[in-house]
Amino acid sequence: MKGTNGKNPPNDLDIGDLIRVVDCTTRFNDPDDLNMACCCSFCKSDSSRVGVVIEERGYRLWNTIFDFGMWEVSQWNLDSGHIEVISETG
Ligand SMILES: [Zn+2]
Repeated sequence: MKGTNGKNPPNDLDIGDLIRVVDCTTRFNDPDDLNMACCCSFCKSDSSRVGVVIEERGYRLWNTIFDFGMWEVSQWNLDSGHIEVISETG
C-alpha cells in the first residue's frame, strides 16, 4: 500500500481510488492550536475523511467526493502527504 505514514506519498490517483485525508493534527503538528484554529471542511463537518476519486480534472488535479461533498485534490496535496491511498483500483 502506498502512502501510509506520509513517508511514501502516492504520486498518482485513479478514478475509483479510495483515499483518506490525514488528521489535521498530523498535518499541522500542533494539536493544541488545532482546537481553536482548524476550520477545514473535514473538521467542520466531522468528516470520516475517507473519500473516492470520481474525476480527473486536468493535469495533476482530481475531483473527489467525501461525506460533506466534493473536494479538489491537487498534486500539492499528494506531495505534502495529506492524502493516503487506502484502496487502489489498479
Ligand atoms: Zn481540519
